[in-house]
Amino acid sequence: GTNKKPATVQTTCPYCGVGCGLSATPSATRGDETHPANLGRLCVKGSALHETLTPDGRLLRPVVHGRESAWPQAVAEVARRIRESVALHGPGSVAFYLSGQLLTEDYYVANKLAKGFIRTPNVDTNSRLCMSSAVAAHKRAFGGDLVPGCYEDLELANLLVLAGSNAAWAHPVLYQRMQASARPGRRVVVIDPRKTATSDLADLHLAIRPGTDTVLFNGLLVWLADQQTVDHGYLADHCEGFDDSLSAARSAAPSPEAVSRICELPLEDVITFYRWFAEEQRTVTAFSQGINQSSAGTDKGNAIINCHLATGRVGKPGASPLSLTGQPNAMGGREVGGLANTLAAHMDYDSPGARDRVARFWETEAVPDGPGMKAVDLFDAVERGDIKVLWIMATNPAVSLPETHRIRRALDLCPTVIVSDCVRDTDTARHADILLPAAGWGEKDGTVTNSERCISRQRRFLPLPGEARPDWWIVSAVARALGHQAGFDYERPADIFREHARLSGFENAGQRFFDISGLAELSNEQYELLEPVQWPVTAAASDSRRLFTDGRFATANGRARLIPIASRLPARNPNEAFPLIVNTGRIRDQWHTMTRTARSSRLLAHRPEPFIEVHPEDIRALSLTPGALATLKSAHGHFVGRVRSAPEQRRGEVFVPIHWNDQFTGQGLATALTDSLVDPISGQPEAKQGRATLTHW
Ligand code: SF4
Repeated sequence: GTNKKPATVQTTCPYCGVGCGLSATPSATRGDETHPANLGRLCVKGSALHETLTPDGRLLRPVVHGRESAWPQAVAEVARRIRESVALHGPGSVAFYLSGQLLTEDYYVANKLAKGFIRTPNVDTNSRLCMSSAVAAHKRAFGGDLVPGCYEDLELANLLVLAGSNAAWAHPVLYQRMQASARPGRRVVVIDPRKTATSDLADLHLAIRPGTDTVLFNGLLVWLADQQTVDHGYLADHCEGFDDSLSAARSAAPSPEAVSRICELPLEDVITFYRWFAEEQRTVTAFSQGINQSSAGTDKGNAIINCHLATGRVGKPGASPLSLTGQPNAMGGREVGGLANTLAAHMDYDSPGARDRVARFWETEAVPDGPGMKAVDLFDAVERGDIKVLWIMATNPAVSLPETHRIRRALDLCPTVIVSDCVRDTDTARHADILLPAAGWGEKDGTVTNSERCISRQRRFLPLPGEARPDWWIVSAVARALGHQAGFDYERPADIFREHARLSGFENAGQRFFDISGLAELSNEQYELLEPVQWPVTAAASDSRRLFTDGRFATANGRARLIPIASRLPARNPNEAFPLIVNTGRIRDQWHTMTRTARSSRLLAHRPEPFIEVHPEDIRALSLTPGALATLKSAHGHFVGRVRSAPEQRRGEVFVPIHWNDQFTGQGLATALTDSLVDPISGQPEAKQGRATLTHW
């Protein structure tokens, strides 16, 4: 009965990393009161989901070199291209570019085929643009990509610090939870160059100079030490590296006065923030893309975590750093090893014994020797001609990567571009040689993991349209066509989930922290009924809401590491030719490149067209007219939008939304305004700081 339609299913929202549970039918979506992420709440995107389920514009059949084709031919052609490329140019000539939109089961099978059987390490994901700096910061500090706290901590905290997060728009249900838990004495500090909707909740808004977050948090570490509010007992028992990180902090941010000058903040505001942080044990610092999407993103994350470690505020109720993930399954992709620097199941290539262990588990001869290329490097390699077959699943890099003109050129140069998507016409699909129709939300089954490590089910309640198939099915079919019958004979997502769960605990693979082997024996029915559950999940199940509660971390010696952070300010700064700083971000009612949310007229009504937010004095100085069209030009491209007068902006800085693209306007992209500069550790692009000039249209 693959096409049976139950009346209502409990499922998970496919948009942001909050991961709200909802009950869905084809004509309505409602918040799920039993889901721990949202407890019945939904934001407007989640509650409009049913409005986006229109059949228009769907990719319904495989298209091979411009011609509609049947699955057997399309699968054979994909396999032939991969086989030939491997034979002529080696396994590394084949690359996969995956997505935080994929379900964990899809991700697992793609990663297994690429690394285990094609043996290319070149697998990366759009999570690189989203959370990779937080991942790298977690690894440096905790010894693994581990989020210590949970959403409840946002409510329990007496001091909430929101760094680089417009949660009101980007994580609306978490913002609702923060609003609902307001009480006398609870304070909120928002650190953001812009005054956003989130600042409404702020007792203190620090309109920081873009890119100076490490200075602010280094200054905080110095303040904590000087005010004797460091927890020396916790540091002695559970951490290392405090002295070195403090002396690095002292040279970068010797005094609040220096911080005030460098970060362009009023001195009294800096001191107020520091005093509040020093006084309040129950402090959560939630950080998001304003921290991550930076050429110093990893350092920013560690500068924040340093302050939490120095005060012993990690993994305690209402006291933790908390990374807010952008995508519905950015964490699930991390769990299966979907990032180029990881191998599988939270194991890195250089984790002791990992390569041998994974190869034996997958029953393959070997896995690649070392890491593959991260997104920006990967597309550089495509442009150079080193990648001959590129398989893109569920993402739109022709819009979302920086310097999109180069990405498009690279796609045109690549001999074989395969795109799996549910939408027929995307900017990326226009460059594809082979299009494969994927099942969309509501049409497929599997799991996703949200920002608080909560695994929850996406369930199907709609028939598959046309010839669309789930991604795991498509990848498995190609794997079998490549001759790998045994490892890819999955019949259902539950088969894949059990295997993924087994690998997480295989010979203690991911250590106890990542272990979900407690779910490896689920029956098909239990998988069907799986309730939201936070990892780790072992046979001896315990409370996984918070990690490191015993002060033991995932490093070799069990100690957390404070990392010395030097100041590294944004790499590209305004100059005479491009005098304005460009900040990019989300708006409340759209998701990514709008392929789904633009189908709802209700969602489009919020902000119906692209805009440029400009400080009123800059509008005057540039002789612009509010409400008229204007053009931002960078060295690589342009963006046309309607000028909005925004006193919320700092002078000399403009904001543009990331969502619009050629499919909707043909008038440029936010990503045409930023460079391919990346964080040296995480490889995450500096999407929060471009530079441009602004003129009348
Ligand atoms: Fe969906 Fe995020 Fe809104 Fe929840 S907050 S309904 S997960 S978009």
